[in-house]
Amino acid sequence: MNTTELYELFVHHRKISTDSRNCPFGSLFFALKGENFDGNQFAAKALDAGAAYAIIDNPEYQVNDRTILVDDVLKTLQQLAHRHRKMLGIPIIGITGTNGKTTTKELIAAVLSTKYNILYTEGNLNNQIGVPLTLLRLDNDHEMAVIEMGANHPGDIKELVEIVAPNYGIITNIGCAHLEGFGSLEGVIQTKGELYDYLRHTKGKIFIQHENKILQQIAKGLEQISYGQEEGDFTVGHVVSCNPFLTFDWKQQGKVHVVDTHLIGAYNLDNILAAIAVGRYFKIPAERISRAIATYEPTNNRSQWKETEKNHLIIDAYNANPSSMKLALENFAQMDVTPKAVILGDMRELGPTSDELHQEVVQQLREIGFDQVFLCGEHFSRTGNGFQTFPTTAALKEYLQAHPLNGFHILLKGSHSMALETLIDLL
Ligand code: ATP
Ligand code: MG
Repeated sequence: MNTTELYELFVHHRKISTDSRNCPFGSLFFALKGENFDGNQFAAKALDAGAAYAIIDNPEYQVNDRTILVDDVLKTLQQLAHRHRKMLGIPIIGITGTNGKTTTKELIAAVLSTKYNILYTEGNLNNQIGVPLTLLRLDNDHEMAVIEMGANHPGDIKELVEIVAPNYGIITNIGCAHLEGFGSLEGVIQTKGELYDYLRHTKGKIFIQHENKILQQIAKGLEQISYGQEEGDFTVGHVVSCNPFLTFDWKQQGKVHVVDTHLIGAYNLDNILAAIAVGRYFKIPAERISRAIATYEPTNNRSQWKETEKNHLIIDAYNANPSSMKLALENFAQMDVTPKAVILGDMRELGPTSDELHQEVVQQLREIGFDQVFLCGEHFSRTGNGFQTFPTTAALKEYLQAHPLNGFHILLKGSHSMALETLIDLL
C-alpha cells in the first residue's frame, strides 16, 4: 500500500492507536518499536481489540488483509503526519529550546485559545513519536497549532521540523543539557538551530528573545518578532516581584499591564513574553493576553508551589540541567523568605563533564549559603564536599524521616529519574 492509499485510509478512520491494550474501535494500529517491545508482536491482538487495520513492518506478523506491511512503521507514521499537516495547511508554531518548552507552549496555547481553535502538544509528547501523533490529531476545525519539539541528539530537530513544517519558530533558550547525546554546547546550538535553518529555507518567521546572544547569532537572515526586557519597539516586560509567584509588567501602546501569575521563578518571564509576543502578532487584545497568562497554572512538578503542614515547598522535580539549576538557585536565593533549605538531586545525561558541572552547582551553593543543603545522587555525592550528601533519594528519605524539617522554605530540584517528588510526603 502506498502513502496516498494509507492516507485515504487514515482520513476514513481518523483514529490512531499505538498500544494494543488501548485500541479504539476502528483505529489504525501502528506497530511501533520501543526499547523493550516490538509492536509487531501485538498486531493480532490490536485487531482483536477493535483496530480496523494494523500497520506492521515485520512480515512474520501478517495475519490477514487487515495487516498492512510497510518498510518502517515509525517512518510511515511520520510521513502520514506530515501529509496530514500539509493537507490542512494551517499556521503552525514549532517550539524547541533547552528549558521552558512545555511552559512556553502552554502559555502560548492559553493566549491563542482566547481567540482561535488551537491544537497543541499534550504534556511533553515532543519526540519522534509524540510529534506525529499530535499532528494526526489535527482536524478541519483547528485554526492553528503549537507543537513542542524535543531533542537529545544532533539531527533530532531537523527530523522533527521536516515533519511539522512550522511557519513560525521559537527557540526558548540554549544551555547545557543532554550533553551525553550532543557532545558539547556547540552540538546543542547546532541542533536547536535546525529549527531556524528550516525557517530560513522556507521563509518562515521566528519569535526571539532579544537579548539572547547565542540565539541572535544563529538567527541572522531570519524575519524576527522580538521580545525581551530592554526598551525597544517590540514586546517588553519586566519582573516586578517573585515572592513566591512571579508578578511582571508589560507595555502595549504606552499602557502598562501588571500581571500576577501562578508561576514560580523569574526565568518564567521569557516564557511569558514569548506568549505575549505571539498573542500580539496574532492580534489578541492585551487584556485577554494578560488574563490568559494570569490564570495559567503549571502542572507535573514544574516549579509548583505547595504549602504543607510543616513547610513551604517549591517542587521543581520535573527535570534539571546546569542552566535551569543555576537559575532556580539564583531565583530561590533572591526570594525574601527565611529559613531556606535546598534539596538537590543529580542532573543526569551530562556525559564526561558531569562531575565538573555538578561541581559548579556545589560552588554556587557555597557562594549563596542556604540555611540547609541536602544533595543526593552519585555525582553530588562525589562533588558535594562540605554539604550533607546521600547516594540515593531513598537514603535521603530515610535521613529526613529521622530528622524532619520544620518551618522551612524548601526548593526541590533534580532530574526526573531522581524522583525527588517521593520526598514530598515527608516534608
Ligand atoms: P523538557 O526538556 O523536559 O521537555 P521543557 O523544556 O519542556 O523540558 P518545562 O517543562 O517548561 O521545560 O520546564 C521544566 C523546568 O525547566 C521548570 O520547572 C524550570 O525549572 C525550568 N525552566 C522553565 N523555563 C525556563 C527558562 N526560561 N529558563 C531556565 N529554566 C527554565
Ligand atoms: Mg517539555
